[in-house]
Amino acid sequence: QSSLQVPAFSLILLIGVSGAGKSTFARRHFLPTEVISSDHCRALITDNENDQSATGDAFELLHWLAAKRLQRRRLTVIDATNVQADARQSLIDLGQQFNCPLVAIVLDMPEQVLNDRRKTRTDRSFADPVLHRQRRDLWLWTRYLEYEGFSTVYRLKSADEVDQIQVVRQS
Ligand code: ATP
Ligand code: MG
Repeated sequence: QSSLQVPAFSLILLIGVSGAGKSTFARRHFLPTEVISSDHCRALITDNENDQSATGDAFELLHWLAAKRLQRRRLTVIDATNVQADARQSLIDLGQQFNCPLVAIVLDMPEQVLNDRRKTRTDRSFADPVLHRQRRDLWLWTRYLEYEGFSTVYRLKSADEVDQIQVVRQS
């Protein structure tokens, strides 16, 4: 079993296309209160986590919550696709503002795994073009995460790797 070391106080961005397993990973390794999810923020505002019209407000809320937690030096996990560099930038700024180490966990699953999951998933299904764009963004825009300001970058490339990982907090 391999371990993924994170500072006890850190801002962790989960990065991955829809269906990559971000929310599942977050549930398995972190307290529910440590995780801020863009879908949950959308639901808090519109009662519907799929309401894309609320995305702007949802991210405002997400940032606000993250700032309040970081101010108190609470470990914070962002569960959003985070596949585009601009989507990450404001979170990186936030982490730096609070002198908080930034950790990226990229769930870079093979296309086959994503397709299989899509067939069985009942809670959500994005149209092909959306997923295609997310996959392209992941491929194009997550190559230089260290240069963006992340002090630690983990890239998990298979479901097996994800299932065997253990998150270890360093005090
Ligand atoms: P979204 O961006 O749409 O919220 P997500 O990245 O949060 O997607 P999840 O909801 O965690 O993805 O997972 C999508 C589907 O894949 C779920 O049906 C889940 O049960 C399955 N899944 C996630 N992780 C694993 C895993 N490690 N092994 C097997 N199935 C998994
Ligand atoms: Mg999710």
